[in-house]
Amino acid sequence: MPDMTKYRPMLERIIARYGKQDQMAKCHEECHELANALEGYPRVETEGDVIFEIADVLIMATQMAYIFGESEVKLAIDYKLERQAKRMGIEYTPVHGESLLAHPEDGDHPWRKEGV
Ligand SMILES: [Mg+2]
Repeated sequence: MPDMTKYRPMLERIIARYGKQDQMAKCHEECHELANALEGYPRVETEGDVIFEIADVLIMATQMAYIFGESEVKLAIDYKLERQAKRMGIEYTPVHGESLLAHPEDGDHPWRKEGV
């Protein structure tokens, strides 16, 4: 997984140029293209095709994180990985601190707190 922080200045320029709404539509389009590439691999799509579509989705998903809230997305990732570790019966130490699974309502965005 590439460190996308290095691309932040360019990604912010793209959002500023085209606008949040257009970038959301573009993200939708690129996710669809990756899904199609994966569905067609290896019959009609090459590994290179899939890699290019992964790159497109990473570029767009990173822009979505900037638009919707990078810190919230990071907490959501931690929450989901911790939840998956629990399902697998393995240990996981949340990258961003305390366990987020203590909250009773799964799916109720328990990482959303005042000031996060
Ligand atoms: Mg694409």
